[in-house]
This record gives sequence, C-alpha cells and structure tokens, in this order.
Amino acid sequence: MSKAIVSTLYDSDVFRMACRQFDKAADAISLPETIRDRTKYPRRCLAVALPVKRDDGSVTVFEGYRVQHNLSTGPAKGGIRFHQSVTIGEVAALAMWMSWKCSLVGLPYGGAKGGVVVDPNQLSPTELEHLSRRYMQEMVNFLGPHTDVAAPDVGTNEKIMGWMMDTYSNHVGHISPAIVTGKPIAIGGSQGRREATGAGVAYLVKKYLADMKIPLGKTTVAIQGFGNVGSETALALSAYGAKIVAISDYTGAFYNPKGIDLKRALTYLHYQKVLRDFDGAEPITNEQLLELKCTVLIPAALERVITDKNAAKLQCRLLAEAANGPTTNAADKIIEARGDIELIPDVLCNAGGVIVSYFEWLQNLSNFYWGRDEVLTKLFGVLDKAKAAVDAQQDKFKFSRRLAALTLGIQRVADAKAARGLFP
Ligand code: NAD
Repeated sequence: MSKAIVSTLYDSDVFRMACRQFDKAADAISLPETIRDRTKYPRRCLAVALPVKRDDGSVTVFEGYRVQHNLSTGPAKGGIRFHQSVTIGEVAALAMWMSWKCSLVGLPYGGAKGGVVVDPNQLSPTELEHLSRRYMQEMVNFLGPHTDVAAPDVGTNEKIMGWMMDTYSNHVGHISPAIVTGKPIAIGGSQGRREATGAGVAYLVKKYLADMKIPLGKTTVAIQGFGNVGSETALALSAYGAKIVAISDYTGAFYNPKGIDLKRALTYLHYQKVLRDFDGAEPITNEQLLELKCTVLIPAALERVITDKNAAKLQCRLLAEAANGPTTNAADKIIEARGDIELIPDVLCNAGGVIVSYFEWLQNLSNFYWGRDEVLTKLFGVLDKAKAAVDAQQDKFKFSRRLAALTLGIQRVADAKAARGLFP
C-alpha cells in the first residue's frame, strides 16, 4: 500500500477536476496502489517573483510558476501561460494533462506547465519582453533542453518564445534553440508549428465526422476563443469545406449563420487586437455561443466552460476539446448520459501542438530542418495512430472516449515508473 501525504499546495477546482479524472481512469485499469500516487501528483514545482520595471519608472512584481508533473518518460514538456487568473493549482492540472497527452500520442516526454499571473494586454511591448526574459532567467536552473522544454500557451506567442530562448542561450553561452518550441522560424522554429494545434484539431474533427457519416460541406462550427488555436482550427476546418458560424474572444462572441468571413475577422483582429465590435456577424455572448445549434462545438479558450449549468443545453453533435480541460466532471457525466454528443477529449484533440513541438525539438537537436509538408504529414500520421489506439481501447473496454484516452496515457506513465523502480 502507498499512502499519499497530500499538501494543499495545488488545491483548486481545476486541480481537483484533473485528480478526479485520474482516479476514475486509475480505477478503470486497476492501477496498483503502490504506483498510483507517484503517477498522479506533480514531481516538483518552482514559484518565482518577477520584478519588472514599468515604462513609468515604477516596479511591479509578478508571480510565476513552473510545475513538472512527470519526468519518468523523458524531459518534461509544456507551455507557459500569461493570464491574470493563473494559479499554481491550474498550472499543476495543466502539467498533469500534458503527461497523459504526451504518453497517449507516444512522445518521449513527461508533462509540465508554466504560468505567470499577469494580463499581458495591460503591458507595453517593452514590459512584456522584460517579464518574459525575467521568467526564463529565474527558470534557468529548472528548465533545460533535456530536462524541461517550454512552449507557448494562452497569452504567450512566438515572439515571447524567441525572447525566452535568447535569455537562456545568453546564460549558457551558446545558442540553445531546443530550450523552447514554438519559436520564430528564423531562430529554429519549425515549419507548421504555428498552425499545428489547430491543424490537428481540424484533422481529428474531419476524421470523427467521417466516422459519424456527416459530410464536411454540411458541417457548421462554433468556436470559443479566437487566439492561436481557435483561429487556426477555424481556417483549417473552413479549408476542408465546413462553415464557421460563430467565433469569440474574451471581449465577446459573434454569430453569422451564413458563415463568418475568416479573412475579415483576422484582419479586424490584426488591427483592433480584440474582436469587440466586429461587424461581420451578430454579437452574442460567450455563453450563448456554447449553446448554439451547430454540428461541431470547439471550446478553444480556457478550462471549465462546459459545466453542469449548460451541458444539458448543448446542441452540437461533436464536442472537440481544443482547449485543455474545458469540460467539468459534472458536465462530462451529463454529456455521457445524454449519449447524443460525440466527444474528442482534450488530451487527443489538441495534441497536434505538442507533436509538432516534438518535431521542432528533434530538428533543433539534430540541426536538420524539415519542410512544412513533411511536418504536417508526420503530424497527421501520429494523430491517426493515436485515434486508432483510443478507438480500439474504447471498443475493447466499452469506455467513454475520454476514459479510453486517459487510461492509455496514464498506463504508459505508470509502466515507465514501475520499470524504473524507486530510487532508494
Ligand atoms: P491564445 O492566447 O492564443 O488564445 C486564447 C483565446 O481565448 C483568445 O482569443 C482569448 O481572447 C480567448 N479567451 C480568453 N478568455 C476567454 C473567455 N472567458 N471567453 C472566451 N474567450 C476567451 O491561446 P491558445 O494558445 O490559442 O490556447 C487556447 C487553448 O488551447 C488553451 O486551453 C491552451 O491550453 C490550449 N492549447 C494550446 C496549444 C498551443 O499550441 N498554443 C496547444 C494545446 C492546447
């Protein structure tokens, strides 16, 4: 028997949600007690204070975190989030999901995540650069190309990854592109990485719609969140022939039953920075967007937006979780009981990002660079394999698709821990 001495460090709604998902999966595969808690809880974390000189001469101290959930299957891997509601519990939950995701799709990585409590929209470009560099400076001894590799997430982007890579490289005294993925191509970023997560979401949506015998030409799509993942998913699905009827960001949601002109929305976003007052569609609320009648609903923003309050009201046929953790455990139960909505769980649905991050890391380590077609062909091959494994697990054990995906991911991490044994 193992007994966990559990602190309240990570305690939060989202961490408890990730733990409950784990417990359900561990029960389903009868994971031995001796390995459970080692597999479940994060391995280690670092919290840092980040003083940043503001443009007006004042100094603000921001708080930042990095949680390494699992290092048993390879270097830890995971994005860095800049958002005002970041907590260490949220970062820990996201790190946990990274572990299951990397394992599920067969990447030689553990799981990690980072975050800074900040609204990046409130910082000037100079302040944002200083904060990004300061974060990496504080993490220099905690991260490394063979220890823990960072990437973008909500509120961070290629530019920020470039600053972080430069900071780390200056510290070690030589260029070290493999410290972060999602970098600009000029400094070792991969072709296809910017669109990878969205391209992966769209590819899996296409595959599951084909299984459901729904033609793409008759598919309507509502997407919550129009950042990197949401916008790239929209573009890829639209290129496949689907109609994007609703999009949103934190300033509001927009609906056009005839289909949203994505080029116009992206141009608007480029100049205005947010979708607020976008005139190419009717304004609705983010809550209304989730309950729209559509073929595919794609949450691509933050966690816990599909809850016991709205799960019964969803009117989609397919729920594709581009965001991490968008569906609460209670909502999951409701959706399962309804039986009329197919689900692509987050750990599978948005895995395209980390798969191409892995390709980027491989290219950096070998100093040998691939073309975009090669990247995307390899990405779709990995997703096909993962989808087939999830579908087979679902059929074999009569699991829900989420349980099938989580059990596969969790089993591999547990197997690795068992094989490595316990350091005395
Ligand atoms: P992003 O910062 O580029 O975009 C986030 C979008 O969500 C923005 O449009 C923002 O305005 C919107 N948003 C924020 N709060 C909202 C709210 N309350 N209601 C509606 N919209 C809101 O971030 P991203 O990289 O696109 O990440 C989106 C999701 O995808 C996150 O859950 C992230 O963890 C997940 N994800 C990202 C990647 C990646 O490669 N970037 C990979 C896998 C998973």
